[in-house]
Amino acid sequence: MSYNLTVGLEIHAELKTKTKMFCISANDPDEKRPNVNICPVCMAHPGTLPVINREAVKNVLKVGIAVGGEIAEFTEFDRKNYFYPDIPKGYQISQYKYPLISGGSLNNIALERIHLEEDTASSSHDGGGGEAKGSLIDFNRAGVPLMELVTKPVIKTPAEAGAFARELQLLLRTLGVSDANMEKGEMRVEANISISKTAELGTKVEVKNLNSFRSVERAIAYEVERMTKILEGGEGEIAQETRGWDENKQATFSQRKKESAHDYRYFPDPDLPKLKLSELPEFEEKYLMKEIPELPWERRSRFVREYGVKPENAEIFIADKIMGNFFEDAIMRAGGDRPSVTLIENYITSDIMGMMKDSNSFGGVTSQSLVKIVTMIKKGELSSRGAKDTLAILYEKGGDPEIIAKENGFIQQNDEGALKEMVAKIIAENPVVALEYKNGKIAVLQFLIGQGMKLSRGSANPETLKKFFEEALG
Ligand code: MN
Repeated sequence: MSYNLTVGLEIHAELKTKTKMFCISANDPDEKRPNVNICPVCMAHPGTLPVINREAVKNVLKVGIAVGGEIAEFTEFDRKNYFYPDIPKGYQISQYKYPLISGGSLNNIALERIHLEEDTASSSHDGGGGEAKGSLIDFNRAGVPLMELVTKPVIKTPAEAGAFARELQLLLRTLGVSDANMEKGEMRVEANISISKTAELGTKVEVKNLNSFRSVERAIAYEVERMTKILEGGEGEIAQETRGWDENKQATFSQRKKESAHDYRYFPDPDLPKLKLSELPEFEEKYLMKEIPELPWERRSRFVREYGVKPENAEIFIADKIMGNFFEDAIMRAGGDRPSVTLIENYITSDIMGMMKDSNSFGGVTSQSLVKIVTMIKKGELSSRGAKDTLAILYEKGGDPEIIAKENGFIQQNDEGALKEMVAKIIAENPVVALEYKNGKIAVLQFLIGQGMKLSRGSANPETLKKFFEEALG
């Protein structure tokens, strides 16, 4: 019998606020110069006093509402005591007993809690020059509001963990509370992993430094293998410890033995007020609800249900808000009928995205001009080939698709008289083929239509050509 995997995730996300968690220093993750956005409070000078950032509290509450969690009636901040140079106060202000949010679920994973704390300074240990000249500390990040979300230990596969983290990133971005870029450290995932053959959980290992969705999945899979080997091989026991993830080796490595909670000697921060959230109107659910936009899962199911978008395309429109808005804008302009929706969906996800590559630019294509192309296709004025060519020119140069199509001879020939003349000409020039058709070799029709497309330089409608050939030879 194989082992059952149990994973709980702890995810930290830097909140996108104007100022830091407890002071008025700017919260600017893009600041490259060290120690610019600092003040005596976030530098931990003695005698300074913290002030709670309302915007940060609101951000966490919005996440809580979105996941259906319970907003605390009473909440407070605690000191989490430990020593490290990146936290010179000697403690991190966090929340222990009374988190802002309890419960809720995301992607069918039950949540334990969501609380608010402050980020630490960032340290670099190579002295910045590659060689070990000492350690440097940059306080720009110190005191940045940090949301910590903890799931219940209910995740059963690496893929489920990855999917959860992706959905959370989407949610944070949709709510506008965090950019949640994992490679920038704006969203940091830790996985608590254990395996067991019984209902009782096995020894827990915590893996840190997971800075991509892929490493979340790979680190968990790696741990399952490593732990199974230990248990099966009789090489002693699994140590309860913190491990890191080595991206190059694609392996975890031991970092330190895990402290238990009491080592931090949490206690309520006497410098901060306790909050009775229900008595503060700005934090009321009914007020915050107004600032919550359509959520990723709502948008996903609406796109599939209302527009009949393919699930994989819906995912593109959900993950990329600009793309999703472009799609919806075009649909509205087109009137929302099914053939238009399908054409718009396909042209965006294949042609337009192909031309955009990784850029964010739609080039000269606008939702109006895309709709114009779709209308021309529906009227039979543009073939799909002609539409592709028109789009390519439109992307490069912009302009009016109708004029582009006319100027470049993409308009489909629907002049019946001219087409019939052409059909007669082709038959006269290919008497043998025409005879073969009359003798029952229907397949040669394709050849004749091909000649028509060639003569019209691709502008004839092949369906119309087919009809005329059948009439002329029938
Ligand atoms: Mn934390």
